[in-house]
Amino acid sequence: MAIGVFGGTFNPPHLGHLRLVRAFADRFALDRVLIIPTFVPPHKASPDLAQAEMRIQMCGLLFDDPRFEISDMEIRRGGKSYTVDTLETLRAQYPDEPVYLLVGSDMLESFDTWYRAGDIRRMCTVVAAVREKGKALDANGAVLLENYDPIELSSTAVREKVRAGEDVKPLVGDAVAAFIAQHGLYTDAYTPYRRLLREKLGDYRLRHSFCVADSARELAGLYGADPEQAYLAGLLHDVMKDSPREAQLAMIAQGGAELTAAERCNPKLWHAMAGEAFLRTVLGFDDETLLNSVRYHTTGRAGMCLLEKIIYVADYMSADRVYDGVDRMRRLARQSLESAMLFGLSFTISQLAQNEQPIHPDSVACYNEILETGKDR
Ligand code: ATP
Repeated sequence: MAIGVFGGTFNPPHLGHLRLVRAFADRFALDRVLIIPTFVPPHKASPDLAQAEMRIQMCGLLFDDPRFEISDMEIRRGGKSYTVDTLETLRAQYPDEPVYLLVGSDMLESFDTWYRAGDIRRMCTVVAAVREKGKALDANGAVLLENYDPIELSSTAVREKVRAGEDVKPLVGDAVAAFIAQHGLYTDAYTPYRRLLREKLGDYRLRHSFCVADSARELAGLYGADPEQAYLAGLLHDVMKDSPREAQLAMIAQGGAELTAAERCNPKLWHAMAGEAFLRTVLGFDDETLLNSVRYHTTGRAGMCLLEKIIYVADYMSADRVYDGVDRMRRLARQSLESAMLFGLSFTISQLAQNEQPIHPDSVACYNEILETGKDR
């Protein structure tokens, strides 16, 4: 009986792993493949590393094939997980069976630096598979898994998508996705909001919101505001923007605000008011600073606080923006928030004037205030 060995962090295991190990078992007619999650020493563990027990359970859910067996031998052994130790244990158990060790191409590249790599080669046949489609592989003493068509995927990408609130079923299968959701793995404090935004916004606006959140966090760091509050405000500033106009009006009414004449004739302003109302009445936010930063991110106003200015400017400078002058905007934003605001306000006010569209009095008041008090405060 030939034995296959496939080790990894499996944080989490994904369909790329599954396709690979199936191809491996088929190609070498293996009726037993040990899937061995590595122990990760506490000092190396990142906040993102799922507990060993959970990684084992996820492997059990994904590698659902009678030929595959999940082994906790490296986890029980603790310490540094050296493949050579694992192979020595297996060799003692199965002295006469051929053993095949499966590695992905990235692992193969560093194989010669592995602890006692020569002994590993002596104890087993190393089998290597490409991770990237169509890429030629230098065998480096291994047997290549010929004609293998990989799924280009990594656990890192899965974790990023979970954090971004994306559905990862297509990447890890239904069972592992449900496990990840049930245990809240790989999320951060903002994941529920990112998930909500995915429901409420189109792709373009979603990406914009993520970019504004990043810019807001950067500016908060530069100007001494709370980076986490800024990130959240940036993330949510356009939460109502892709909602139909009637829904925006209904949300404004739900929040108890009344439109002024200037607002009534300019539907492009509604999403900011509706966004503030949504955060307050639906999500239960009561942080007035954050609420105001959403409420005034389009028009600006006189007397803006630091966070309001940050969100206003972040919206103009975010990585997704491509208009003429955006580089200047980004430079100004890192020098003086007021200079950046003035640049943004001038840009918007002149565009509106050119198109004979109404200019909200808050924008004019904001513009005048910066000039009156000096933009280089
Ligand atoms: P991370 O992104 O966290 O580094 P990973 O996706 O590389 O994780 P590991 O658990 O580190 O997953 O990988 C275990 C083994 O599976 C390694 O030998 C790796 O090269 C291989 N491997 C991972 N993903 C693929 C894939 N999509 N195709 C082929 N091999 C893969």
